[in-house]
Amino acid sequence: MAKDIELMEKLVSLCKRRGFIYQGSEIYGGLAGTWDYGPLGVALKNNIKNLWWKRFVLDRTDMYGMDAAILMNQNVWKASGHVDGFSDPLVECRKCHRRFRADQIEGGKNDFKYCPNDKEILGPEKKFNMMLKTSVGAVEDENSISYLRPETAGGMFVNFKNIIDSFHPRLPFGTAQIGKAFRNEIAPRDFLFRTREFEQMEIEYFVKPAQWEVAFEEFRKGVLAYTQDIGLAQDKVHELEVAPEDRAHYSKRTIDFEFDFPFGRKELYGLAYRTDFDLKAHEASSGVKLAYQDEELKDSYTPHVIEPSFGVDRTILAVLADAYREDIVNGESRVYLALSPNIAPVKAAVFPLLKNKPELVKKAEEIFTTLKKQVPQIMFDDNGNIGKRYRRQDEIGTPYCITVDFDTLTDNAVTIRERNSGKQERVAISDILSKITS
Ligand code: ATP
Repeated sequence: MAKDIELMEKLVSLCKRRGFIYQGSEIYGGLAGTWDYGPLGVALKNNIKNLWWKRFVLDRTDMYGMDAAILMNQNVWKASGHVDGFSDPLVECRKCHRRFRADQIEGGKNDFKYCPNDKEILGPEKKFNMMLKTSVGAVEDENSISYLRPETAGGMFVNFKNIIDSFHPRLPFGTAQIGKAFRNEIAPRDFLFRTREFEQMEIEYFVKPAQWEVAFEEFRKGVLAYTQDIGLAQDKVHELEVAPEDRAHYSKRTIDFEFDFPFGRKELYGLAYRTDFDLKAHEASSGVKLAYQDEELKDSYTPHVIEPSFGVDRTILAVLADAYREDIVNGESRVYLALSPNIAPVKAAVFPLLKNKPELVKKAEEIFTTLKKQVPQIMFDDNGNIGKRYRRQDEIGTPYCITVDFDTLTDNAVTIRERNSGKQERVAISDILSKITS
C-alpha cells in the first residue's frame, strides 16, 4: 500500500482549521505526543465513545460500567508486570544523541542499525520503560511513586471483588471502562496514531476457563460490528492472528485488528485472551482473594479473561482518513468528510437564504430552535453566501444542510441538500426531523 503522506498533512491542517484537533500546548511550541480536541473534535469523540458504550454496555445485560482512578497504588503495576516489563527497545545515536525505537528502524548491513538523522551506527539496544512516573503527596520517596496508568485495564482488575460483592453477577460478565491512558512513547508519530496521552475503551470479560473460546469469538465479531457502527470501510479493516512470540506476556491468544491508515496497515484495536494472569497476580500481590464462587459447581475458582481494547484516538484518525474526499461540484473543487451520520459532529445545519431578510432569519431560527430540542448537534449559519456555507459544512462532514427561502414562507417546506451527492430536495417542515435522523 502506497503511503499517503499528503493526505496526513491535509487531515492535520483540516482538523486545525475547522476546530477538530489542535497541537497540544501550541502557543509554547507544543509538547510532543499530545493533541488538544476542539469543539468539533470533542463532538466526534463523544459520538464514537457513545456508540461503543451503547453496543458493549447499554445493549447488554452482563456488562458493568466503571470509571477507575488514573493514579493507582504502584503495586498494581508491579503485580501486572508493567514496572519490570512494559518497555520498548531503545537505541541512541552516538553522535547526535537522538533516540529511536529499535524495532521501527530498518536493519542495515551486518545487522547494524543506522541513525536516520546522520547515518551513524546506532548504539546498543536498551530497554526503555514506557510508564510515566509521578510522585503523590508532599514527601517524595520510594513510597510516593505512582504512575499515570498505561492502560485502563488495571483499574478493572483491582475492582473485580467490588463488582462481585455489590452486584453478585454470574459468569460470564464483564466490566467496561473508557478513560485516559499514558505511555512515554519513544517516538510519538503519525498525528493521533502514536501519542503519549490517549484514550482507551476497554472491556475485561470474565468467563469460566473452558468458555474462553466462545467469548473470544463473540468479541471478535463484536469488534468488527463496531467498526461498522462507526462507518469504517470494511475492506480497510483486517485481522491479524498475532504469533506466540509477538504476544504480550499475559496473552495466550491475540488478534490485532488492523486498519489501512494513510501511512500503512497498522493496529487499530486488539483482542486478547489474558487467561487468569491478572487476577492471580493481583491476588498474590495484594493478599486479597480474587475468586468466583460458582454456586452450581459448589466450587471457587479464578475466572479467565477476554479483553477487547480500543483506542479512541486511533479510531478518530481512522474515520477521518477514511472519510476524507475531494471532488468537483458545479465546476468548483471541494473537500468533504463522508462521515457516517452516526458519528458526524454536526448532524444538520440550518440556513436562512439571505441574512438581511428578517422574515427568512426568523423562520430559520424557529426551525433551528425546534429541531435543536430533538437533535442537539445541529448548527445555525447565516455567514457568507450559500455556496460558502455548503463548503464549510462539507468540510466538517455535516450530512444535511437545510435552507429556508422565500417559498418556505408560503409552502412550509425547505430545501435539504445531501452532503455526498450535493442533491437537493424539497421537504415539508414537518418531515425534516425524520429526514435528518433516518
Ligand atoms: P502498538 O503496538 O501500536 O504500540 P499496543 O499493542 O502496544 O500498540 P495495546 O497495548 O494493545 O497497544 O493498546 C490497546 C489499544 O490502545 C491499541 O490498539 C490502540 O488503539 C491504543 N493505543 C495504544 N498505544 C497508543 C498510543 N501510543 N497512542 C494512541 N493509541 C494507542
